[in-house]
Amino acid sequence: NQSLHELDPDVAAAVDAELKRQQSTLEMIASENFAPVAVMEAQGSVLTNKYAEGYPGRRYYGGCEHVDVTEQIAIDRVKDLFGAEYANVQPHSGASANQAALFALAKPGDTILGLDLAHGGHLTHGMRLNFSGKQFDVVAYHVDDAGLVDMAEVERLAKEHRPKVIIAGWSAYPRQLDFAEFRRIADEVEAFLWVDMAHFAGLVAAGLHPNPVPYADVVTSTTHKTLGGPRGGIILAKKDFAKKLNSSVFPGFQGGPLEHVIAAKAVSFKVAASEDFKERQQRTIEGARILAERLTSEDARKHGVNVLSGGTDVHLVLVDLRESDLDGQQAEDRLHEVGITVNRNAVPNDPRPPMVTSGLRIGTPALATRGFDADDFREVADVIAEALKPSYDATALKARVTALADKHPLYPGL
Ligand code: PLP
Repeated sequence: NQSLHELDPDVAAAVDAELKRQQSTLEMIASENFAPVAVMEAQGSVLTNKYAEGYPGRRYYGGCEHVDVTEQIAIDRVKDLFGAEYANVQPHSGASANQAALFALAKPGDTILGLDLAHGGHLTHGMRLNFSGKQFDVVAYHVDDAGLVDMAEVERLAKEHRPKVIIAGWSAYPRQLDFAEFRRIADEVEAFLWVDMAHFAGLVAAGLHPNPVPYADVVTSTTHKTLGGPRGGIILAKKDFAKKLNSSVFPGFQGGPLEHVIAAKAVSFKVAASEDFKERQQRTIEGARILAERLTSEDARKHGVNVLSGGTDVHLVLVDLRESDLDGQQAEDRLHEVGITVNRNAVPNDPRPPMVTSGLRIGTPALATRGFDADDFREVADVIAEALKPSYDATALKARVTALADKHPLYPGL
């Protein structure tokens, strides 16, 4: 019964240092969030010890009566949250959910149509080195010159290639997709429509973004981005796909489900149904809009800083540095220096190499969870804009970051 600090001081020290990093800096990686203590408590519980291959009520192991309860709660809550007929809460991650979903809808060699990685798509939507790119015949659509998904191209490619699956979803895109239009195109070419809402699921849960569930055959998501839960994946679908999806997850790709994580997912779905969560998602979007406004201002554009698509409807902005002397790597390093964590991100038709890039992806979910309001986001936006100027005062900017971090303590008491 030794504590982590007693048993393994080396690991404990790194965990402590990571807590301190999260508390003292501003986390603006668009795919990250801060899970509630109750979620982490469930995730760190004795449920980690339990084998439970199968599904609630139909397990291949004894002693599953309590994990049956938590898994069923998770299923019922997430179905309610998104209005889905079917849910599978076992995927270990977003990529695992996507793998199981794709193999339930198509077989190796079939054609899939997804958003190009360099234009904001995800690895699992057909990237060359990913299972999706290796085992499927991939056709990619793109964003147009205005930075919007080119639905005319989606329709043209769908008619030309007749894909088995059309994928709507993104990892780096600042606007909403037109799910009804994707559905119309899918129906026209008799393709399945799979929506990957990993990034914007929290906005959907709060009613601040169109819900893809009524339109798509299958919807996948992570639970740890805007949704704010433990790291993991989920699959939602029309009930006709239930059998195929269940067997694709287990025994298709996974063995024993992570019941401790599933219990934590259940807790996070309860949180996501609350009024507080909705208010938090409103601040998330408002923060991103404030950021977009500051980074498209005359003052920013004078120094070659701009924002793709001219703004945002979601929880992130894509900073366009093609006109700036700073590249994505240098900009990421500068923000790191002043205490703001972001990731560099290629922009469409990026003139710089993929490890350097000409863009940044900046998200607001984690800071909104921390309690940031519009005034706080105005201050953050100004610090970022100042840090991206040719000359900047790192010490002064870092002091402003520290003041914001101190104003909104994270995990007090941990
Ligand atoms: N789908 C999308 C759209 C994503 O952005 C991501 C993660 O960034 C994933 C899936 C994969 O999630 P995970 O990292 O949990 O495998």
